[in-house]
Amino acid sequence: MAYEGLMVGVSGVRGRVGEALTPEIIAKFAAGFGAWALARSGGKTLIVVGRDSRVSGPMFQPVVHAALQSVGCDVLDVGMVPTPTVQLAVEHHHAAGGLAITASHNPIEWNALKFIGPSGLFLDAAEGAEMRQIVEGNIPRATWDKLGTVAQDKDAAREHIEKILALPFLDVDGIRKKEFRVALDCVRGAGGVFMPVLLELLGCKLATINMEPDGRFPHSPEPIAENLGELKKLVVDSHCDIGMAVDPDVDRLALVSEEGIAIGEDYTLALAAKLVLRHRKGVIVTNLSTSRIIDDIAREAGTRVIRAPVGEVNVATRMRSEKAPIGGEGNGGVILSELHLGRDAPVGAALILQLLLEEGKPLSKIIAAYPRYVIVKDKLDRPAAPLDAVYEALKRAFPDAEADTQDGLRLTWPDRWVHIRPSGTEPIVRVIAEAPTAAAAQQLVRDCRQPVEALGR
Ligand code: MG
Repeated sequence: MAYEGLMVGVSGVRGRVGEALTPEIIAKFAAGFGAWALARSGGKTLIVVGRDSRVSGPMFQPVVHAALQSVGCDVLDVGMVPTPTVQLAVEHHHAAGGLAITASHNPIEWNALKFIGPSGLFLDAAEGAEMRQIVEGNIPRATWDKLGTVAQDKDAAREHIEKILALPFLDVDGIRKKEFRVALDCVRGAGGVFMPVLLELLGCKLATINMEPDGRFPHSPEPIAENLGELKKLVVDSHCDIGMAVDPDVDRLALVSEEGIAIGEDYTLALAAKLVLRHRKGVIVTNLSTSRIIDDIAREAGTRVIRAPVGEVNVATRMRSEKAPIGGEGNGGVILSELHLGRDAPVGAALILQLLLEEGKPLSKIIAAYPRYVIVKDKLDRPAAPLDAVYEALKRAFPDAEADTQDGLRLTWPDRWVHIRPSGTEPIVRVIAEAPTAAAAQQLVRDCRQPVEALGR
């Protein structure tokens, strides 16, 4: 079955509203997901449903409810909340699964469904394939007397916040006494009703922008440095200790230093890991495209970094098997195992405040102790021929590099790396390189472009 313009990934389906993403598509995938969850749940029928603040969210929400009811699932709707709150609620209620209606950091015209399994993790490749088989076959529907019910749960966000504040190594009283001045940009996403509550419970004095959770994003909602101009100004104008930006579904956190500099989203996980590894023993798990600043942090803590294929669930499942206390992605996605195995910006914010408390010095000074790297990202049209020939050629060209082939090809040297991988959702090949200087990173990208382009000709 072909869905024009629809991006069907392992743990989600997304598209532009009014184009590929229609209520009919949402209903089909929600029903298929519900049938999948019921079939493997051993009698559980509950599915947790939440959404971000997108304008199309209230339109899709009743569609998701009805689709789930139609296959016999009971719906527990947790309202407009961060995606990690939905994941936690699935665990909390021992539900058969969860659906988050969110297109994460994608622009305003997008929406999506994210599929959460009974453990609170996103579906992995095998689970996603099983579910899609049901979506594309005959979805088993319930008869009139087996239809599911719908109930509301208004406590999910509060429970999420309470779990964060109860983390054993979080010195809530100490953080409160510091009265950190925090500038906050929630980009009119679901964070607008969540982040201020958490930060005020941590005693922070807030200067806020874009808190109205109406989904009318005032700037591109991905919390990357180029989108944080307003926040940087707010930090300086309001004399804040730190600036924090989250994406619309609040699983990514980016930081601005007290000097008004966006320090780069790779530093969020690095700093959170620096803090956690003081209190917990174990390895760090991240993906193959994350900055090597995390390796410096690991070395400092006397541990090592394990790299998983790109995709939150790949990192989360590897964290589970390695018993890693901390992990996540370089895009600002922090995963703290003892809270749950999902990217969680609120817990990231709490960990960073604890780090500021323990360090007793400004964020810019903490960062200054580490080498700086430059990441350069490029994309090329995907050649029709398999990329294996390119990978082999590159391995031969760089015999001194360590090669990792879990997910495309990653070549690593002591102070630089390059990662070449086909996108899972677009017909492109991504080339990402990191080195101590921009010129060196650009050279690595050029070295890898050439054989990919040659294959395309
Ligand atoms: Mg997100």
